[in-house]
Amino acid sequence: MDLNILHNISYGMYVVSSNKGDALNGQIANTLFQITSEPVTIAVSINKGNLTHEFIESSGRFSASVLAQSAPLSFIGNFGFKSGRDGDKFNGVKIKKLASGCPVALDHAIGYIEAEVINKIDCGTHTLFIGKMSESAMLNTDIPMTYNYYHQVKRGTTPKTAPTFIKDEGMVAGGTKMQKYRCEVCNYIYDPAAGDPDNGVEAGTAFENIPDTWVCPVCGAKKDQFVKEG
Ligand code: FE
Repeated sequence: MDLNILHNISYGMYVVSSNKGDALNGQIANTLFQITSEPVTIAVSINKGNLTHEFIESSGRFSASVLAQSAPLSFIGNFGFKSGRDGDKFNGVKIKKLASGCPVALDHAIGYIEAEVINKIDCGTHTLFIGKMSESAMLNTDIPMTYNYYHQVKRGTTPKTAPTFIKDEGMVAGGTKMQKYRCEVCNYIYDPAAGDPDNGVEAGTAFENIPDTWVCPVCGAKKDQFVKEG
């Protein structure tokens, strides 16, 4: 078997949100797709251990914000590598609360869909929730982010809890002789050849020369949580 083929299945990038009473939570999901058009139904695969899973089970609803290509890694990291059990992930994020009480993340979103759960499939570690669209809106006409763009261009990584996580996932080959460093929290790889221009680190900057105030652009881990790669 060649697991590399799994990297070539195409996905988008979404913030999937739900609520349990007044408590709100959201997470990054790439495994979302439309199933039927009449009525419009969509499916999303959510890890059973995630707080969002608990909230979808509770409210019977979820929303999906379609992320734009311009969404920064830090935004994706906040929803993808942190748990709502440790803090409010919507803190500082523009949201809209729908009539049902379900939240929608508006930052970096092209639009959103809300769905009422009509069926679910137990898939072991994950549940596949199938929902009937109950509300939707377009917010702008930006380009949607694909999962491939997130990995190849943004150099983003995948948490262990994602349906599409592959152990020892290889990062983009940089073709550089300078030492790469890996974030022990999220597996983001700092490649000196690319730097981190979004956060003021120019291409060609050795890891040692990055200011100590710099943090992992994906998960926010401090510089001392990085280890030499390879
Ligand atoms: Fe990280």
